[in-house]
Amino acid sequence: MHLQFVGCGDAFGSGGQLNTCFHVAGDGANFLIDCGASSLIGLNRHGIARHAIDVILATHFYGDHFGGIPYFVLDAHFAKRARPLIIAGPPGIEAWYRRAMEAAFEHFSKIKLAFELRIVSLPERATTKVGTLQVTPFPVVHGNSGGPFYGYRVAVGGRVVGYSGDTEWTDTLVDIARDVDLFIIECYAYDKPIRNHLNFKTIEQNLARLAARRLVLTHMSDDMLACRHKVPHLSASDGMVLAL
Ligand SMILES: [Zn+2]
Repeated sequence: MHLQFVGCGDAFGSGGQLNTCFHVAGDGANFLIDCGASSLIGLNRHGIARHAIDVILATHFYGDHFGGIPYFVLDAHFAKRARPLIIAGPPGIEAWYRRAMEAAFEHFSKIKLAFELRIVSLPERATTKVGTLQVTPFPVVHGNSGGPFYGYRVAVGGRVVGYSGDTEWTDTLVDIARDVDLFIIECYAYDKPIRNHLNFKTIEQNLARLAARRLVLTHMSDDMLACRHKVPHLSASDGMVLAL
């Protein structure tokens, strides 16, 4: 099983990196974590078979994490995708799906799709089976609109992946990271405090509490990208593949 950073950028294309989208495949898994607006570009760039993806997990509804879903769905419809698709995320996802679809392609939230689409609302701090995945969402802190905001633990094929989603520091991150094989954590800035986001200094202060086997930084602004060389941790780049 492997995880590929299809997109690891922030909302603004800092460093030329695409919006958030991680692809996990192998050992019975084939899913995306987040599907930011530029995801189809990344999926095509890396030759990832879009119609083999079974599940899209969304951490929240901002465009750089959720905005690629209309393109993904319409592409699947026009390609006459055969496999069912599950899109799962925080409560409110059905309404956000319709809203995003209508904003991108008017009337298309109402058409009969060529494939079975299931939109699944996941309760926080409960483990839900989503296709072959065992998904446990945790609430994180990212502002007052566009949420609820989740970080995830995803167990599949004997491995567990944790992802912070977009968030400022919250002790919930300790729960997400506990004993995971890979913990992907947003690191928007180096030491500047930015509301609703993490900076590296905060992560460093809490590092001993994050009991993950491996840690990777993502969602970096220009400020953080310029400081990458000072940081003793792996930081994501578009296209990077990690074995799980
Ligand atoms: Zn974001």
